[in-house]
Amino acid sequence: MKQVNANGLLIPALGLGGWRIGDDPAKAESEIAAIRRGIELGATLIDTAEMYGGGASEELIGRALAGIPRENYILVSKVLPHNAGKRHIFKSCEDSLKRLRVDYLDIYLLHWRGSVPLEETVWCMEKLVSEGKIRRWGVSNFDTPDMEELWQIPGGQNCAVNQVLYNITSRGIEYDLIPWCEQQNVAIMAYCPLAQAGTLKRLAPDVRTDPTIAAVAKKYGATVMQVMLAFVLKKSCVCAIPKAGSVAHVEENVAAVSLKISDEDWALLDSVYWPPTCKMHLDIE
Ligand code: NAP
Repeated sequence: MKQVNANGLLIPALGLGGWRIGDDPAKAESEIAAIRRGIELGATLIDTAEMYGGGASEELIGRALAGIPRENYILVSKVLPHNAGKRHIFKSCEDSLKRLRVDYLDIYLLHWRGSVPLEETVWCMEKLVSEGKIRRWGVSNFDTPDMEELWQIPGGQNCAVNQVLYNITSRGIEYDLIPWCEQQNVAIMAYCPLAQAGTLKRLAPDVRTDPTIAAVAKKYGATVMQVMLAFVLKKSCVCAIPKAGSVAHVEENVAAVSLKISDEDWALLDSVYWPPTCKMHLDIE
């Protein structure tokens, strides 16, 4: 599995998303099997958040991870903006650890910017690192000016990850944010890498019915979702966390890591989904 450099911590290029995991008890068995299969196949980066299902995602992931040696996976969770200050973050982190049934998180992210000053959040994150509760910290939904501001704060340059929306239909970050993060060794963690399998209607066309992606997929004996993943994984500083609720989807997604598409076919896809030629606003789901 390709590895991505998150400010010195190497993380696998493909992981597993945790949003909407654990919401429906009828799906729990399939979701647990999917997570365990993903880890077996090397997709050992697991993303969740205190927000997801009000903790239900973390709880289900905790159940799925039971019995697996702690060093065999990289666990990411996120603190809500209003909890990201001295008053609440330490309890938030402790609650996440309890639900996940672990002693530490590998990466703790600020879910998005809120009203708590960035300086305070950075100070808290550094304290959590020094206490051994988290190994690294990062941010989510930060655009380039936010990152530049973070870089001016004491300790801000220890940020390891920026988790942002990125897929073939939403390429604005290629203009400035990806190059900026790559230069600073900040890993880009692509969320919605499958454009929610065609259902991200507010932001993306339905990729399932796109004839160009389908034609490229057919040529390589791949699926549309595999081409979507191969696209985000092309860049060396980008990892992806597609959410998959079944073993079959996880296996299909992991197989996409070894999919090699020619420059000519990427150019064909570029002719439909243009790379940005100017600064664009950051898409947020
Ligand atoms: P996504 O990963 O782009 O798409 C998930 C959808 O794709 C699910 O409906 C899933 O269905 C389907 N799917 C997965 N593999 C498939 C396959 N091989 N073939 C067909 N369909 C497939 O969207 P997302 O869940 O919104 O984003 C991924 C993760 O990013 C989230 O789970 C979350 O961890 C994170 N995220 C972070 C933020 C943030 O603000 N930081 C925002 C959004 C998401 P099944 O469930 O049936 O497999």
